Amino acid sequence: LIAFLLYLFYLVPPIGQLVQGGVQLQQGLAAMKRIKEIEDLPAEPVGVAERREERPFGVRFADVVFRYGDDRPVVHDGVSFEVSPGGLTALVGPSGAGKSTVFALLERFYDHQSGSIAIDGRDIRDWPLGELRAALGYVEQDAPVLAGTLRENLLFAARDATEEELHRALARTRLDDLVARLPDGLDTPVGHRGVLLSGGERQRVAIARTLLRKPRLLLLDEATSQLDAVNELRLREVIAEVARETTVLVIAHRLSTVTNADRIVVMEGGGVRAVGTHDELVGADELYRELAATQFLVG
Ligand code: ATP
Repeated sequence: LIAFLLYLFYLVPPIGQLVQGGVQLQQGLAAMKRIKEIEDLPAEPVGVAERREERPFGVRFADVVFRYGDDRPVVHDGVSFEVSPGGLTALVGPSGAGKSTVFALLERFYDHQSGSIAIDGRDIRDWPLGELRAALGYVEQDAPVLAGTLRENLLFAARDATEEELHRALARTRLDDLVARLPDGLDTPVGHRGVLLSGGERQRVAIARTLLRKPRLLLLDEATSQLDAVNELRLREVIAEVARETTVLVIAHRLSTVTNADRIVVMEGGGVRAVGTHDELVGADELYRELAATQFLVG
């Protein structure tokens, strides 16, 4: 009996360990099963979390009345239009129609006198100014290239952008060809004392610079300078590409941009004259037909 008890005494700890080991094994198997379950979930496309953060914003103008000063004529007279999030919206109209004023009001350089402007469903007056301006990107017409390298030009307003973000912006704006051609790539001085860029390249550099700030709404005043066929095509591709992820509002000067737009807002004399697609407007609006005939290279 003593021998049996001694035997048990030596055997019990290993039995305990075995039991414990079994529990651990079971826990391990359960964990593996859970991992498998997680693995089997439908995969989220890469970058979804990022994009949720960068959700595009919609815009709504409702009966907006605006003048630049009390003694000045009304610039906007009951302007109404709606831009759903994402996609490309073109503003067209003769010089003085009030297109740039739409941008100035969105950036809140001025306050409208009556009616309402909403960005992402929130009244523009309720937006903290810094937050609003951080969410908007503005690319001006014939945007300047700053003295310095191409890299400095791009990172000017987004110093903490990663190398990966920089390369993605270059790819999205079809500038990778240019980088490959430059003697020192991104570190080549451009502008005044460096390689001169064409009008189309300059605007694409400005778009890339703005994209690095991850705007939710991009305001683009399209370059009026004549572009060669390749640059015109590139610009059109870039605008379409950007409009896939960001809401783009463009003051359009090119027929090719307008024909690709999801919607076109035709302005005249401080009001909205018509809204539609190119095909709809060609059939329905005389002013639009005239603008299209002149290839929009007006105002
Ligand atoms: P363009 O294509 O020629 O720039 P537009 O359609 O963009 O024309 P706006 O620039 O919005 O038109 O101008 C609309 C009206 O407001 C014009 O009569 C213009 O003279 C006037 N205006 C524009 N900016 C100002 C300002 N800062 N102060 C006073 N009036 C202005």
